[in-house]
Amino acid sequence: MENQATERERICPRCGEGSRQWKYGRNASGTQKYRCGHCKRIYTLKPKRHAYDEQTRELALKIYYSGASGRAVGRILNMSKANVYNWIKKNNDDRG
Ligand SMILES: [Zn+2]
Repeated sequence: MENQATERERICPRCGEGSRQWKYGRNASGTQKYRCGHCKRIYTLKPKRHAYDEQTRELALKIYYSGASGRAVGRILNMSKANVYNWIKKNNDDRG
């Protein structure tokens, strides 16, 4: 039995081809880019779901509002500070 489904998720978002999808370096944030051998489209694969769940988000906000900086929160929870600031901003918007 051979596993033939390994590279299957790499599908061109433009023409839908799943073959001849080549690696094409990485963008500034380190995401792998691909290039379609059919239509020459260069694209990145979207993450399937949110990287962090609701619990992590609440924990991040709790730490932040207890006096830590966004950068410290990021370091504690091992995520980017931009992500933390996004959550803080969103939280502020929700409260008006
Ligand atoms: Zn294509």
